[in-house]
Amino acid sequence: MRLHGIKIPHKKNTAGIAPVELPIPSRVRIPMSMHIGRTSKVIVKKGDTVKVGQLIGQAEGFVSSDIHSSVSGTVEKIDEMITAGGDRVPCVSIVSDGRQEMYEGIKPPAVDDFDSFVKAVRQSGAVGLGGAGFPSFVKLGVDDLSRIDAVVINAAECEPYITSDTRTMIDKGGYVFKGIEAIKKYMGIRHFIIGIENNKREAISVMQELAGKTDGVGVRVLPSLYPQGSEKVLVYNTMKRIIPKGGLPLDIGVIVTNVTTLAFIAEYLEKGIPLVSKCLTVDGSAVKEPKNVIAPIGMSISDLIEAAGGLKNEPAKVMYGGPMMGITVPSMDEPVLKNTNAVIFMDSREAAPPKTTPCISCGACADHCPLRLDPRAIARAYKTDDGEELEKLCVDLCMECGCCAFVCPAHRPLVQTNKLGKLRLREYHDELKAQKEKEQKERETKAEKEKKTAQKGEVSHE
Ligand code: SF4
Ligand code: SF4
Repeated sequence: MRLHGIKIPHKKNTAGIAPVELPIPSRVRIPMSMHIGRTSKVIVKKGDTVKVGQLIGQAEGFVSSDIHSSVSGTVEKIDEMITAGGDRVPCVSIVSDGRQEMYEGIKPPAVDDFDSFVKAVRQSGAVGLGGAGFPSFVKLGVDDLSRIDAVVINAAECEPYITSDTRTMIDKGGYVFKGIEAIKKYMGIRHFIIGIENNKREAISVMQELAGKTDGVGVRVLPSLYPQGSEKVLVYNTMKRIIPKGGLPLDIGVIVTNVTTLAFIAEYLEKGIPLVSKCLTVDGSAVKEPKNVIAPIGMSISDLIEAAGGLKNEPAKVMYGGPMMGITVPSMDEPVLKNTNAVIFMDSREAAPPKTTPCISCGACADHCPLRLDPRAIARAYKTDDGEELEKLCVDLCMECGCCAFVCPAHRPLVQTNKLGKLRLREYHDELKAQKEKEQKERETKAEKEKKTAQKGEVSHE
């Protein structure tokens, strides 16, 4: 048995095109939050000269990430920017001197055991490059390695358009396997499964050839059914293990890592160059020449599209990531981020939202949900403000993959409703907690009163 999924147009127009290195822009804007966790602390000031790979933002707290300059030049200003997710974060603007001089401290890290390996991954600035942005040193820095028996390498790349992971496997397959060897050596894990959709023939053959020369690595070719690359779905379809509700892959002995993240870590161990540039797909109906590019982190989206060949139509919508789960880019001044695996420019026809009509209770949404949720029932519970029902329907499990909305003949805004349903469920939990605390307080007050009354009684008897 496999978890559900849907057939969507692949649009992998750029899979056969090796990435093109873009010219360095005159300026980059590097935000101090391109990861899940705490915002990094700026450690440079206006007027400082910096070089490629120099640390400009230091990880703060347990879940955070180091950030490095992607150009050599001068710090022009440090201000704030509002991210696509709506957060206000510090941002370092650097004017490039065009020389791309490497920072003197760049050298391969000294790694000889688990602790030095995790430290090196931290210093590399690696985060989940499939889009998640979770700091890699936190994921790999498992406190009890005996809990883990396998690594699932996410090479599914199931969103339309995106082919940057495909290019990693074709162009940097050797680094994927060096990453595997590093995990074997420093973490002692022996079992690896590369989960890859069957629409990536060239990448599959590279991975299979290399796996044939490496102990403990299997290549699992999976049907091209979206959302094959979502963590829960991939772990189930490759290992038949179920991540428990509210749990992590670690809870079932698995680490899941994106294939490009793994290749980047291996390359860092070899060369010592931190995460300063990104291979990403530039595509969509408004793009003149779809391609994969290597762009410095912090390059603006307007510089990116100009350097990548320009637009044939005015874009009506620009997205970080694919059309199913991507985030709308609010302005062309937004920068390329560490976890940007694609920028999709859609013309007005592609971006036009379909007309919404009333639900016809066909059940297609529930039939196609990979997690077997019932979006129609969730929408009802949200409309009637029924927190208890939202809990029963497990709205908090929804991974916002969009399968339900994609198949809905009435084009209901099911993902947006599920997001609101999750918020309502959180409020419901807060209300329940507040109610319990109130009742507890009342019980304590009552008990206190009874105690005082009893004490008075004892005194009057004396
Ligand atoms: S968005 Fe949520 S409810 Fe809809 S198919 Fe995906 S997981 Fe299921
Ligand atoms: S797929 Fe759309 S129309 Fe069909 S039951 Fe679900 S919400 Fe209603």
